[in-house]
Formats: sequence, C-alpha cells, structure tokens
Amino acid sequence: MTLIYVHDALERILAPFQPLPSVLVPLRDSVGRVLAEDIRATTDLPLFDNSSMDGFALLASDATQAGEATPITLQVVDDIPAGKMPTKEIHNGQAARIMTGAPLPPGADAVVPVEETDFNDRAPGTPLPENVKIFKAPRLGANIRKRGNDIRNGAGILFAGQRLRAQDLGMLAMLGVAQVPVYRKPRIALLSSGDELTPIGTPLTDGKIYDVNSYTLGAMLESAGCEIISLGVAADTPKSVKAALDKAKDTDLILSSAGVSMGSFDFIKAVIEEEGILNFWRINMRPGKPLTFGNYKEIPFIGLAGNPVSAFIGFMVFVRPVIEKMLGRSEHSSENRQTRDRVRVKLLEPIQSDGRESYLRAFIDRKDNQLYAQLTGHQGSGNLFSMVQANALLIIPVGVKSLKKGAQVDAWFLD
Ligand code: AMP
Ligand code: MG
Repeated sequence: MTLIYVHDALERILAPFQPLPSVLVPLRDSVGRVLAEDIRATTDLPLFDNSSMDGFALLASDATQAGEATPITLQVVDDIPAGKMPTKEIHNGQAARIMTGAPLPPGADAVVPVEETDFNDRAPGTPLPENVKIFKAPRLGANIRKRGNDIRNGAGILFAGQRLRAQDLGMLAMLGVAQVPVYRKPRIALLSSGDELTPIGTPLTDGKIYDVNSYTLGAMLESAGCEIISLGVAADTPKSVKAALDKAKDTDLILSSAGVSMGSFDFIKAVIEEEGILNFWRINMRPGKPLTFGNYKEIPFIGLAGNPVSAFIGFMVFVRPVIEKMLGRSEHSSENRQTRDRVRVKLLEPIQSDGRESYLRAFIDRKDNQLYAQLTGHQGSGNLFSMVQANALLIIPVGVKSLKKGAQVDAWFLD
C-alpha cells in the first residue's frame, strides 16, 4: 500500500466537515466558546461623558490662575455620585463634587481631583462643603472620559471564529450582551480498544496495561472545546467494537485509537467496512503511520494508531483541525493548518530522520531572541515520558533524512 502525504490526508479528512450550528449561551458560560457571529457596538462607550477621578467638576477657565499659594475658591452647587444624574448646570465660579464614573454636569469641562483641593483626606460621609479651594489649574478636559472615546457605536468589536477570553466576556458585558451566539460544542464519541487495556483504579493483572489514550485524547478534546461521549474500552472482538460504536448516536465524530494496524486482533477496520465506509491509509509520517478514516453508520470516524504518542500526535495533526473547522475557525483550513502556529527553531543537536514527515518531541528554550531545540529522549511511539518532558514538536519535512546541529526547523509549541 502506498504512503499518502499528511497534507493530502488532512484535506480529505476535513472535506466532509462543516461549521456546526450556533446556539445562545449565557455570557457567564461563554468563556472558551467560539463566537458564531460578529459582535458590533450598539452604543458609544463610554455611553456618557464622566469623571475618571473623585474630585470637583468645574470650568477650566475659572481655575487657570490656581496654585499652591494662590488657590481659587469655588461655590459647591451639586453632589454627583456614580449612578446619579447631575441636577444643575455649572456656571462660572461654581463646582460640583463628583465621583469616579459619575456623569459630568453640563457646563463643566474639567475635573480637579480631590487631592488638589482643600477637600482632600476627608472621611467618607463628610457632608458637602459650601466652598472648595482649588490648588492646581486643570487643563481643559482634564480627568474626563468622553462619550465614545473607547468605542464608537457600530464599530466591530469581536468576530465570528474567535475563542472568547475573560476580557472578551467583559467587553460583551459592557455592551450588555447577556446571551452570546457561539458554535455548538462538537460532540465527540471517544473509544479505546484492546484486550490488554485496564481502567485505572483497578489492579493490573499479568500482561495488562492501563488505558492511557482515553485520558490524553479526552483532555485534548476537552481543551479544544468539545463535549465527550465516552464509549469506554472495547475488547478485541468485532462484537465488542460494534456494541461500543453503537453508543455513538447523535455525535459529530467517533474518535478511536488502536486496532488499526496489521495485527491479528485489529478489528476496527473490518467493523467500519461492514457498517460504513472505510478509508485506510498509511500516512507518510512518523509516528502515527496507520490511520483509518470513514464513517460508521453515517457518523464520521477517525481511527488513530494505538501507541500513546502516535495517538497524541495523530490528534494534533488530524483531529484538532477537524474540531477547529466545526467551530467555524476557517483560518484553520488544511492549507493554513500546515503553517499555523509554527515557529522556527535552531537545533542543538544533529537529527536523523527516515524521510517521513516526522514529529519529534523536543524542549525549546529561548536565548538572545533565538529559539533552540533539543530532543527530549526516546522517540519511540510508546515513550510517553519524552512527550511529558517536551514543550514542543519539531516538524521534520518529508524527504529529509538528516539535519546538522545548528540547522533550522519548524516546530509547534504544545499547549
Ligand atoms: P494496536 O494498534 O492495537 O496494535 O496498539 C498499538 C500499541 O498501542 C499496543 O502496544 C497497545 O497496547 C498500545 N495501546 C493501544 N491503545 C492504548 C491505550 N488506550 N492506552 C495505552 N496503550 C495503548
Ligand atoms: Mg490492539
């Protein structure tokens, strides 16, 4: 069977997937979700001219001569806490006490902070003074946040395809958006397979190992923003595999690991072929050469290789882009995916490769504005410890068999 290129496989895998429908979620629940619509400002922000200090609102022209030794005395005519509207217009010779965030009274064109008045250092609750002394001349507009100085009504604020962060939630709150349109979470059915797999929490018996992939793949799905439907662990029989896959109803993708090599107990391919469509590819990559793609009873299916590192890297290369596409992150097309997030690093040691596109576990360090990479140890597809020690994957291009110390390669930082 011929080897197919990573890029071609990814393109074929991505083709049938489309962005999911959008749903409204309460703002509080929207962090990490992906916006499904552009958000435009529906008002100016700030919405009204307001004070950025606790102080006195006045006419700047009244206080041009104010100084430490030559204070100007103004009559205090109003008291404006945050959340209240001013009741008076400010005329020459007058001032209003004003708190941070309170609307600027008409007539006033500057705010002098309390620290620059004789009303400094008063206990909260001190009644409004009749007069106030101003010790420093304010410039016109001092300490005033003008309506619309942050955002103009109609401005584009956040865009479809963006993953919402804490500051984005704050912005949406500022705009009064209570329900946020986000893409529905991809629902992913996750299956491990193999007679040797034992769930953690159970003592191991001879020849058995713990199920690792449910945890690594589950964690990666979770952080990519998916809802996981666990299909558990299937034994190496067609019956067990089918029974597990039948629990995948109403999911957007079935993701399995193992059982797709050439072993005598690798039944995944046979089951997929019987109940759906099977594409089995040997990919020109290392690790993770065998990959099954198709569908099971019309649900898209991706079968990753079973070794823990192969499954992990297979996820990064083939599954993450599928999820990004379902989440409307169109910039993550297969074309862009190949270059996305890549950094150039300099090798601290020579590297041998076998000509396949290789993803090697490495640790990247920064020194004098240059990134340097060193392999983290055994690169076998079962050596998970080198993945634990790694903070990046080096991507050795197809056709390259050796690289000298000091050569430059692309790398992906691991999240
Ligand atoms: P297979 O493709 O089924 O031959 O699996 C390849 C290798 O990966 C074997 O050594 C399996 O024991 C191992 N393996 C498969 N699935 C898992 C898993 N969920 N956790 C840990 N190791 C696994
Ligand atoms: Mg197996």
